Amino acid sequence: MGSDCLFCRIVAGEIPATVVRETDTTLAFRDIDPKAPVHVLVIPKEHYADVATLAQGDPTLAADVLATSAAVAEDEGLLGDGFRLMFNTGAYGGQEVFHVHAHLLGGAPLGPMLARDLG
Ligand code: 5GP
Ligand code: ZN
Repeated sequence: MGSDCLFCRIVAGEIPATVVRETDTTLAFRDIDPKAPVHVLVIPKEHYADVATLAQGDPTLAADVLATSAAVAEDEGLLGDGFRLMFNTGAYGGQEVFHVHAHLLGGAPLGPMLARDLG
């Protein structure tokens, strides 16, 4: 991967992003089209397509993504009222960017988990 992947290009500094936290292995930046008052994307710097590939390929790096997500949640003041951490995965999950990213959402009540029920 690399030049073909939007988030690899953000990691490389080729595309600007509003970075809120960076570690040796992860990057957290604000979503360009926020769906909540706080909407941060947390990614591993190394390219994995989705959360399943990441968790199976490098569980330690998957844990780094969670730890960075928790740190950002704390920085953004979300720990008290709560937040949602979400990995859209594949076609049914509505994934659009195939570099794994956690959506950290909060700052207001987020409503039901899904936009519609299956009934
Ligand atoms: P997905 O649907 O793959 O789970 O989420 C992709 C997310 O990436 C969307 O929420 C979208 O707004 C965000 N996004 C797409 N392009 C960019 C970009 O160039 N910069 C940033 N910061 N976010 C982006
Ligand atoms: Zn990538």
